Amino acid sequence: MAVIGIMSALHEELAAVLAEMPGEQRVTVAGRDFWVGQWQGHAVVAVLSRIGKVAAATTATLMLERFGVDALVFTGVAGGLGPGVRVGDVVVASGLVQHDMDASPLFPRHEVPLYGRAIFETDAALSTQLAEAAHEVLQEADRHLGPDTWARWAWGSPQMHRGLIVSGDRFVSTATESQALREALPDALAVEMEGAAVAQVCCDYGVPFTAVRTISDRADDAAHTDFNRFISEVASPYSRAILAHWLAKRLTA
Ligand code: SAH
Repeated sequence: MAVIGIMSALHEELAAVLAEMPGEQRVTVAGRDFWVGQWQGHAVVAVLSRIGKVAAATTATLMLERFGVDALVFTGVAGGLGPGVRVGDVVVASGLVQHDMDASPLFPRHEVPLYGRAIFETDAALSTQLAEAAHEVLQEADRHLGPDTWARWAWGSPQMHRGLIVSGDRFVSTATESQALREALPDALAVEMEGAAVAQVCCDYGVPFTAVRTISDRADDAAHTDFNRFISEVASPYSRAILAHWLAKRLTA
């Protein structure tokens, strides 16, 4: 049976995933707890990615080498950069760039040396499946979040976006910095700290990968506001619902 890997950036999101995997077994490697079990009839390995590119790349490599996952999905939160990308929206990556990679003048800015490219594309089929699942969940977002939460965050209708996500070893929390990112990478929809590293590892191994990020902030001077509350009340229920919808439709093989 194909093994599906799920990497979550934060503890609360992982907890929401593990709640769906009763009877999971813990396997500890390199200080990381990998949870091996089943979800909706699929063989699943779930793990906390840890924050930042190096930690996430190590975790991804272990997922592929030790646990032999056949597809890898990253769920987490991100800061919105694109014009219509608002808090509460979901972005499914079509490709990822390391925004802090700069080996110029030896290589063009953002290009990963010896790969001949800056953008690591996600798997098209996997991304389409996750985008469909995210779209379905957002159409009934209030049901997944509960009425109190929905009223408190006071959103209109959350949107699903597909496009470029950029990653770097920095929590982007000033308007100056997010503006600089928009200028350097005008297509970027969202910024986070792990995805592009995981995409590069999956490219090395030829394993399908995609990333799904709920927008927690606008990567500006208010980026820290209510971050933890947003994770528990919104991002974690979204991750769980999106993955559940996706797995329910995906054929076991
Ligand atoms: N408060 C958290 C730390 C969050 S670090 C804790 O105590 O664990 C930020 C995480 O959210 C990273 O995983 C990153 O990928 C993502 N993220 C959300 N908004 C971001 C932003 N504006 N800039 C960079 N990363 C962001």
